[in-house]
Amino acid sequence: MTVNGSWRRAARGAGLLGDDGSVAATIFAEMSALAARTGAINLGQGFPDEDGPAEVLSAAVSAIRSGENQYPPGIGTPDLRHAIAEHQERFYELRFDPDREVLVTAGATEALAATLLALLEPGDEVVTFEPFYDAYGALIALADGIHRTVPLRLPGFQPDLDELRASVTDRTRVILVNSPHNPTGTVLTREVLETIVDLAHRHDAIIVTDEVYEHLTFGPRHVPIATVPGARERTVSISSGGKTFNTTGWKIGWITAPAELVTAVLAVKQFLTYVNGAPFQPAIATGLRLPREYFTGIADSLRHKRDVLSDGLREAGFAVSPSDGTYFVVADAAPLGYRNAVEFCKALPGLAGVVAVPLSAFCKDDFAERTASLVRFAFCKRIDVLERAAAQLAELKH
Ligand code: PMP
Ligand code: GLN
Repeated sequence: MTVNGSWRRAARGAGLLGDDGSVAATIFAEMSALAARTGAINLGQGFPDEDGPAEVLSAAVSAIRSGENQYPPGIGTPDLRHAIAEHQERFYELRFDPDREVLVTAGATEALAATLLALLEPGDEVVTFEPFYDAYGALIALADGIHRTVPLRLPGFQPDLDELRASVTDRTRVILVNSPHNPTGTVLTREVLETIVDLAHRHDAIIVTDEVYEHLTFGPRHVPIATVPGARERTVSISSGGKTFNTTGWKIGWITAPAELVTAVLAVKQFLTYVNGAPFQPAIATGLRLPREYFTGIADSLRHKRDVLSDGLREAGFAVSPSDGTYFVVADAAPLGYRNAVEFCKALPGLAGVVAVPLSAFCKDDFAERTASLVRFAFCKRIDVLERAAAQLAELKH
């Protein structure tokens, strides 16, 4: 049997298609399986090991018990759409019409998929930074787009503005931004955001911004690119409840955008998932309406976790790049004598009982070489787990 279709494009876009036509698992699934097999501490796939706020969990349980178990509206329940619009106004002074400018999706992933499928014509270019979250490469390929990247390099992982300017042309349909940035932990500067808006205007491109880590910053404040003058009317902003409320398994995400763009994305979304988890929608609405202290509290708690893991990595002999946001930190294994992060990550469960992800998994082949000895560690784990990981990593020096 011959299996045709766009699966090959998606797998190739994610760098997962083997020469023999086999498809590898994503790096996250591979690394979680490695952790399960070896019993090592999983600092690979980014998911928290503690539940989120009790109010949010109870709201989902109550919704199930009270019969909110059938198809909700395709654009999302009115209550959640209002809560999303209120959240955008409360935190960023961005006003969106909850009936026309907000769309609920199956996590940020479906928001990205539906947006790219809606906006790209075959051959249109999409500019992202590199390293990039793995789904970007696969989804751009699935939408038949061409993926151009702008490197983020050490130190600091900010883009060079001239390289950014050179990458955006009249062929660019979408500039896909991600800040706070997975995997580097970088928060893009205002100057970078302003340059992106300027380029989008100049080349008539649409800005798609993935802000799933919007509340997880530890120094520089998160600036949604839609708040930069001139951006709002050409920006699709994407977020998700997974990171903010420790509910990565619920897959409730959303977009906020001008009505015309929401309509285009909805046209695709309704044939991807049609609607999303009814009882989780009131629960995420409850979360979005929590007092401000909840949101500052999660950032404070993660800052402490970042410090525990970063200090541990430094003491173990890694060169650690400061993480200003997300729940990831990048460390260089070269000072310890390990120049190949892929080999190093495979050996790490045996060496130190820890699982991490090589940064090359977020890069195209030609850039992977330059990140050869860099490793991403997740710190969204309990303090005692991070302390144990730090103690075990200290063994690498011996
Ligand atoms: N974008 C980035 C940058 C992420 O790190 C993640 C989390 N895996 C996603 C999108 C996907 O989010 P969701 O689980 O809500 O689909
Ligand atoms: N966003 C998480 C990470 O970067 C998990 C992604 C996934 O499993 N697809 O680790």
